[in-house]
Amino acid sequence: MADFSNNIEFIRDLIARKSRNSLSSKLLVAIGTLILIGSTIFWYMIIVRGEQMFLQNTVEHAETYTEMIEKTLFANMHALQTGAIQQTIEAIGTSRNIRGIRIFTFDGKVIFSSDPGKVDSLISRDSPSCRLCHSSGAVPGRESLKIKEGETAWMIVRQEDSGRFIKLARPIMNRKSCSTAACHQHSPEKKVLGILETDYSLSSIDRTIVRQKVTTVFFGVVFTAFCSVVLCVILWKLIIRPIMLLSDGMKKVSEGDLDHHIEINTRDEMGMIARTFNQMTQELKADRQKLENWARELEEEVNRKTEEIRRGQEQLFHAEKLASLGRMAAGVAHEINSPLTGIVTFAHLLLKRIPPENKMDREDLEVIIEQAERCSKIIKGLLGFSRAIPSEKTEIDINATIRQTIDIIRNQAKFHNVKIHLDLDPELPRVRGDASQLQQVYMNLMINAADAMNDRGEVHIATREVNDNGKSFVEIEFTDTGPGIPEEYLGKLFEPFFTTKPVGKGTGLGLAVSHGIIKKHGGYIRVKSTPGKGTSFYLRIPVPAGDEQV
Ligand code: ADP
Repeated sequence: MADFSNNIEFIRDLIARKSRNSLSSKLLVAIGTLILIGSTIFWYMIIVRGEQMFLQNTVEHAETYTEMIEKTLFANMHALQTGAIQQTIEAIGTSRNIRGIRIFTFDGKVIFSSDPGKVDSLISRDSPSCRLCHSSGAVPGRESLKIKEGETAWMIVRQEDSGRFIKLARPIMNRKSCSTAACHQHSPEKKVLGILETDYSLSSIDRTIVRQKVTTVFFGVVFTAFCSVVLCVILWKLIIRPIMLLSDGMKKVSEGDLDHHIEINTRDEMGMIARTFNQMTQELKADRQKLENWARELEEEVNRKTEEIRRGQEQLFHAEKLASLGRMAAGVAHEINSPLTGIVTFAHLLLKRIPPENKMDREDLEVIIEQAERCSKIIKGLLGFSRAIPSEKTEIDINATIRQTIDIIRNQAKFHNVKIHLDLDPELPRVRGDASQLQQVYMNLMINAADAMNDRGEVHIATREVNDNGKSFVEIEFTDTGPGIPEEYLGKLFEPFFTTKPVGKGTGLGLAVSHGIIKKHGGYIRVKSTPGKGTSFYLRIPVPAGDEQV
């Protein structure tokens, strides 16, 4: 039912489109014309052929009939019973389909006739009776005879009032018994004694032929219509509907509806095209999906990068602030350094003047000297660290640079709860480098470790000499007991501005700058981290070979 209503919908659509140029209309017109021409020729042949056969049968029948009449009359002729002949002819003349019988002489004189009134009348020379046996235009005579002995000539004559009939003429030949019998006076030279002529009516045959024609035409029309309908249905199912489904599908897909599926499930070429088309649509859809995903990913990536740049700008701004703060701090430290030196010098002088028995004052003064010297040491470290212009590389003792850095940071509040363990190799070879820059690297690593441990935990610093691919390096290890670094961050650690610290606290420059400094020293940094346990940074600085100057 649904299929039927779909088909109706399609036909309506087809009509609505008025597509006279469409393939389906052309096919319908072409096949319709072909069926019409073919069936017309076929039915015409059947009708004509049927009529011919009917006539042939009738002629044969009439010939036999005429021959039978001749044979019936032969005995009477032989016995010269003219009355009996006339009676027999009249009796036969009343038979159905017999319009008339007559016997006339070679000269055209009627001797016997089913119509007694025509006996002794003469047949005109241009009558059908003469034309039947003689060539047309010739004077009736033996020379112009067309028929031979024993044959029956026939022709169809049409009369306005009484319709068609077959005129048959059969020559009555002069037999041996006719010329030799005592009662006869026919000379043996005479070949034809007379002509037996029968008019056989075709009216009932004509009626049958008309009926036959009507029936044939009726069945022809019905059969042609049936064939046309069946052909149209087949054409519709196999070609037109699939083509329309395909063209509709293509239109929908070209309009962007990639979910459209062409419902042709046959195994023929149309089904194959539909399946290929559906597959193509699916691939197109998948590709479009991929493109959309790419576009979305690209958009997300652009947003992420934009956010990174924004954060980077903020951090750069913060870093500049820190740098100027560092420069200012260096200036302040320099200023404080001279008064501190004065305090220490004068405290020493004062200590010398206080007598040894005044123990209390001496002890107080020693505390002042000790604290002032500590301040001076911190300030010297700060000045060394904050030196802006990189000093020339010199021979340095890595262990000493580490100790100096630890001295600076140990007194800072940030490291009060951080236990620092030193495991420095006393046999460590010297390297070439910039002490203040290396101290900056240690400082960065220590601050990161303290930040990761929330200023509470342990840091192990160790130094050792290692061999890497036949080259000697000094390795400095910083291991903390912090939460470690997630694996996905490990690849980004040394990128400038990568930070997980809140805005204002981290700049994301510490490790990038440290990496740059170690690289300048010909070395490299490696990191190992176990989430939940801690992080280890390994700095490797090459030891100059024997012939190289330290
Ligand atoms: P910042 O300290 O300004 O964030 P850094 O380049 O020094 O910039 O460090 C980058 C990031 O590396 C930090 O934000 C932090 O997430 C991570 N990191 C560095 N050192 C450690 C550490 N010892 N433990 C855990 N994470 C660390």
